Amino acid sequence: MGDNELLISLLIFISISLFLLLLYSLKKNSAFNSILNNQPNIIFISSIDKILYINRRGLKFFNCKNLNDFNDKYYNLANFFLEDEDCINKHSNGKRWLEHIYRSKNSREKVKLKAPNDNMEYYFYLHVGKIKKNRYLICFTDITRLERDKDMIRKLADYDTLTKIYNRVKFNEMLPYYMNRALKYNERFSIIIFDIDHFKMINDTYGHNIGDRVLIELTALIKSVIKDMNIRQNTVFSRWGGEEFVILIQFKTKVEAYKIANTIRKEINKYSFDRVKKVTCSFGVTDFKIDDTQIDIFHRVDKALYKAKESGRDRVVIN
Ligand code: GH3
Ligand code: MG
Ligand code: MG
Repeated sequence: MGDNELLISLLIFISISLFLLLLYSLKKNSAFNSILNNQPNIIFISSIDKILYINRRGLKFFNCKNLNDFNDKYYNLANFFLEDEDCINKHSNGKRWLEHIYRSKNSREKVKLKAPNDNMEYYFYLHVGKIKKNRYLICFTDITRLERDKDMIRKLADYDTLTKIYNRVKFNEMLPYYMNRALKYNERFSIIIFDIDHFKMINDTYGHNIGDRVLIELTALIKSVIKDMNIRQNTVFSRWGGEEFVILIQFKTKVEAYKIANTIRKEINKYSFDRVKKVTCSFGVTDFKIDDTQIDIFHRVDKALYKAKESGRDRVVIN
């Protein structure tokens, strides 16, 4: 074999090797692409400030044709994060959101996004891993259904099923927050407790279902009175149990709370309830004092309510 033939054979060998190598790498790449494209999660590969790859699920979610289209529309993805409890938002980290998540303790955060396709809000867990220097693998795991279920369970736990206002458990859970605020910022708050007069007689006369209706109508009436008095933002209204309710009013002395309770009492007195027509309630009022425990507050306000019942009902007693 001459030198030329040897050189040609060598060149052919190198060409075939390169071709096979290219074929292998393309195959590897397409296998890699196919894995990422078949993920139910949105997957990105990114440098610190630019998305370099987005999988099919991501393109579909963001309604983009390809990576360029995505980068045009979502230059800074964090700008599209919506504000919500426990979620990272666009204001907290600016453009460094990726680094922030990567450096956060478990490199996992929650984000809320609106899908341009259906305008629905979705929740994702965001996981960021470093694959090499200045290359991050970002995975958005859809947890929307989980979040909705959690919300439903929370609602069932916090709200009274009949009247749809807070229940006693929730109220007791919230009270320490107002007590701490009162101590820390020297804020005042008052508690109004009230109980329907002779409710047993209403049940006995009209039946339990009509009794239930009274509870629902009464709740709606009080909500509207609270709204009309412009104190809705500063009140916590909850069903204490049976035909007894409690209202916490922030920033009010007991004398101010007394006036509010008396307005509510008068509105109930003049309201015409379905079938039953006239219903009255008795009220107890007190305010938070620095050394009070939860038990102290309720001991005082219960005593006031008891006095209101004892002294003839349909009245407010302050303690
Ligand atoms: P008072 O003026 O002293 O408060 O008399 P009262 O009849 O309202 O008080 P009592 O404690 O004797 O009766 C309360 C009644 O409320 C008894 C109970 O069956 C009824 N009740 C409690 N929860 C509900 C409810 O969810 N729906 C209905 N319809 N009745 C309820
Ligand atoms: Mg009663
Ligand atoms: Mg009662």
